[in-house]
Amino acid sequence: MAKQYKNLINGKMIDNGEWLDVVNPATEEVIGQVPACGQAELDAAVSAARAAFKTWKKTSFDERRTAIRAIGKAISDNTDELFRLLTAEQGKPHQQAQGEIMGAAYMVNAQADLDLEDELNIDNEKESIRTRRVPVGVVGGIVPWNFPVSMAVQKIVPAMLSGCTIVLKPSPFTPLATLRIAELIADAAPPGVVNIITGEDSLGPLITAHPDIDKITFTGSTATGKKIMEGASADLKRITLELGGNDASIVMPDADPKKVAEQLFWASFTNAGQICIAAKRVYIHEDIYDELSAAIAEVAKNVTVGDGSEQGTGVGPIQNKKQYDRVVELIEDAKDKGYKFLTGGDVDPSGTGYFVPLTILDNPPEDARIVAEEQFGPVMPLMKFSTEEEVIARANDSDYGLAGAVWTADEDKGVEIAEQLETGTVWVNQFLKLTPHTPFAGHKQSGFGAEYGKEGLLEFTYPQVIMVNKQNVPA
Ligand code: NAD
Repeated sequence: MAKQYKNLINGKMIDNGEWLDVVNPATEEVIGQVPACGQAELDAAVSAARAAFKTWKKTSFDERRTAIRAIGKAISDNTDELFRLLTAEQGKPHQQAQGEIMGAAYMVNAQADLDLEDELNIDNEKESIRTRRVPVGVVGGIVPWNFPVSMAVQKIVPAMLSGCTIVLKPSPFTPLATLRIAELIADAAPPGVVNIITGEDSLGPLITAHPDIDKITFTGSTATGKKIMEGASADLKRITLELGGNDASIVMPDADPKKVAEQLFWASFTNAGQICIAAKRVYIHEDIYDELSAAIAEVAKNVTVGDGSEQGTGVGPIQNKKQYDRVVELIEDAKDKGYKFLTGGDVDPSGTGYFVPLTILDNPPEDARIVAEEQFGPVMPLMKFSTEEEVIARANDSDYGLAGAVWTADEDKGVEIAEQLETGTVWVNQFLKLTPHTPFAGHKQSGFGAEYGKEGLLEFTYPQVIMVNKQNVPA
């Protein structure tokens, strides 16, 4: 029987006797089971979080930091075990899984250093006015399957640091490493401060609707984000939504194809393209289009798609069958429409594992589904452009606004173009970089609010203004 992983509720690892299978996407074998929770377990976790909030909100930042750093240490001390488990459930190659675990530990520790000082607005002989930040209360965190560990700690840490308590729900596809972390951190904070419960997608709406949860922090698809916003409106829960993207990369004619080909490849294909901020549409200036597209295709030919636990694998499988079917559908659509493929395109549905060959499309039209929709898979459409004005308009012609990139030998020009893109993050001559100190915020339908940095932390608080009239003392 596959190993069973328990939930963390009120400081204890527990289960309810009902189990969900977790499947390795490379082998399609069941590699673990997790509790299938519903309303009763959610109620227990929320009431533990509510009880813990009474005292946790009064703790000092230093006390909270100590608990958060214990979490960072538990993750980094167990990197080896955690990254292997992450590869087994998520599919990403060992090296990338190791990067996610080490990156999560780094983000935990870096964010522990953030602060929320009171702001003294006025202080004179007549009055003092001070704005402080108070925690919103019990947070419901909902996480997707592409970066399960990074996203989990990205919900837990700012909640804890701000003085909130949290009930976190991992994706049913990738709960194992998160529940192993739950076991490792069960004693890091007082019981009830961090609770982690698992269940099907149907557990999500129960969290959104729960009357004793004050805020939802969610990462996932735009479609689900809209449902959460709707559900949260019933009692005006605070929300932070990190949603989908269809990020454009713009390659200017002065960029050296030899220098950028490999970086562009990995901007699209890291984690099998299942990254909200992956390069999902790549616009290349017509002067260098042929040379650069050939160079990117050449990189693809030297990268192995396979089981992430095997040495030499560069790109793993798609994480789950539903997403695999969607990516295959987009490829089939491109074939039906007669678009040209530089690499890939031939999916073998008879094999074991959700593998899709590295697929690069040669200049499909702007209204192709693979260009207009978020593919979230190892398919990279390359498009030709002629003028700066035209490419900026094409890049911005999207309901999404998560991130984007500009590649150019002229840094000032890169910044000038970056400032015209309608997205929350824009990279010049780099890709996929986020920092713990700057806000990560989707524009348009890519999100609501921000994560990371002080802005991310503020999302877990209400402002409270204390006004003292010094000349009206009733004594
Ligand atoms: P998803 O929206 O299907 O699921 C995300 C989480 O929400 C899961 O835990 C799921 O169980 C839960 N859920 C499902 N239905 C729900 C509902 N009605 N109410 C509440 N919760 C519900 O997304 P996914 O397929 O797991 O992830 C892929 C998507 O996530 C992509 O669109 C990707 O771009 C996006 N994403 C965004 C970011 C970001 O930071 N902006 C990061 C990673 C992924």
